[in-house]
Amino acid sequence: MHMSTSLSHLQPGQRVVILGIARSGMAAARFLKERGYQVVLSDSGPLKPEYQNELAALQIEWECNGHTSETLRQADLMVASPGIPLTAMPYTFARQHQIPVVSEIELASHFIQTPILAITGSNGKSTTVSLLQALLNQAGYRSAACGNLGTPLISYAEKKLDYLVLEVSSFQLESTYSLKPQIGILLNLYENHLDRHGDMPSYFAAKARLFQAQGPEDHAILNAGSVWCQLLAPQLKAQVHWFEPQAEALIYQGQHLMDLSEIKLPGAHNLENIQAVMQAAEILNLPATALRQTFSQFSGIPHRLEGLGSWAGRILINDSKSTNYLATQKALESFTQPVVLIAGGQDKGGDFGPLANCITARARHVVLMGESGPLFQHQLQQNGYNQVSLVQGMQAALAQACAVSQPGDVILLSPATASYDAYQNFEERGDDFRKHVAAWVSERPEDHAQS
Ligand code: ADP
Repeated sequence: MHMSTSLSHLQPGQRVVILGIARSGMAAARFLKERGYQVVLSDSGPLKPEYQNELAALQIEWECNGHTSETLRQADLMVASPGIPLTAMPYTFARQHQIPVVSEIELASHFIQTPILAITGSNGKSTTVSLLQALLNQAGYRSAACGNLGTPLISYAEKKLDYLVLEVSSFQLESTYSLKPQIGILLNLYENHLDRHGDMPSYFAAKARLFQAQGPEDHAILNAGSVWCQLLAPQLKAQVHWFEPQAEALIYQGQHLMDLSEIKLPGAHNLENIQAVMQAAEILNLPATALRQTFSQFSGIPHRLEGLGSWAGRILINDSKSTNYLATQKALESFTQPVVLIAGGQDKGGDFGPLANCITARARHVVLMGESGPLFQHQLQQNGYNQVSLVQGMQAALAQACAVSQPGDVILLSPATASYDAYQNFEERGDDFRKHVAAWVSERPEDHAQS
């Protein structure tokens, strides 16, 4: 059964069970309730207190601490949160009872008319979505950045905009069938989320779903340096455009646009994100002046190589969004100065070797914290690297990093791990670092700093 067929029969009055009571589930519930659908929300865990009043006000039914078969059985359609794996009980139940299950993105695709510019990849999605949206804004278009990085797509279903710039994750794509972006971008594909997808071919297959409903009038932007993108290209119906991961200068519409030194975003990885955005700009025929302005001003988004100022000649950087080894490697490679790295948290696994080599080549010292601290220390020692301190908590990590650093160094928080061992999410971890940095700097004016 093709799921988009089932959605074409979707009509008010039908019963939709929404699995997962969080941001995208709530947005889908609001949307459907307003349009006369019978909505029930169901969560395997407790209800987050912030949603209680709204659910009561909207008179939406809900259950928590488990999905019951009584609720699931009544569904004409289920809308599942991306956090729920395909092997979980509601999916099994739905298969047995032939109830279609779709993502919030799929539901939104059914209602949205605005052209969608969709971006996926292992790393760089949020940065690239924000950059493309800033560029469209600069060029005078009305657009919004949405999806995985903040506001769910369904919240924009009936807004009058020229473009929606959508961040899509592999988890969302697993239950998405008819999303038809005018432009789809696959930035890269690295080992990530293998706990959920099992292996790289399955992870790749999920990402490839971004392009499945596209036609010859649509566009796919792919990374010329990625073997996975090369594998994907022959399967696509859309027009394929390649971006080069490296460049000597930015060339737009066949002309020199600007030198790399004029770009505000730091790091070679961000050059890849810019090159992908330039391909989209060519397709949309955006003016070169808008590109120049945006690339020279856009400094990135919080928690991604975010500058927090300086203290006693050290530059402080918050890269809390680095939740895998490769992101930390990219962060280290972005600096020419010696780096004191603060890392560690909830380990996601993978091959630590390349990061260990990069640390050995570039880091003056590594301060390790969190659950993975001892493991990382062991792996670095095996690599012959001993400039390591093991500490408890962010405040101690910052103090130690300041103590072992020298003027001219970069102090970089780039954990290479998830944050869930100590925080709700990476934003909370980055905010905690920012708070301790602010306190450290205000308590130790630079002229008294020892170096
Ligand atoms: P995502 O939304 O895919 O998680 P972000 O834009 O939030 O990506 O960036 C997360 C981290 O990934 C950044 O801190 C940076 O270190 C790294 N990164 C960003 N862009 C790229 C890229 N094109 N290739 C590899 N790593 C990248």
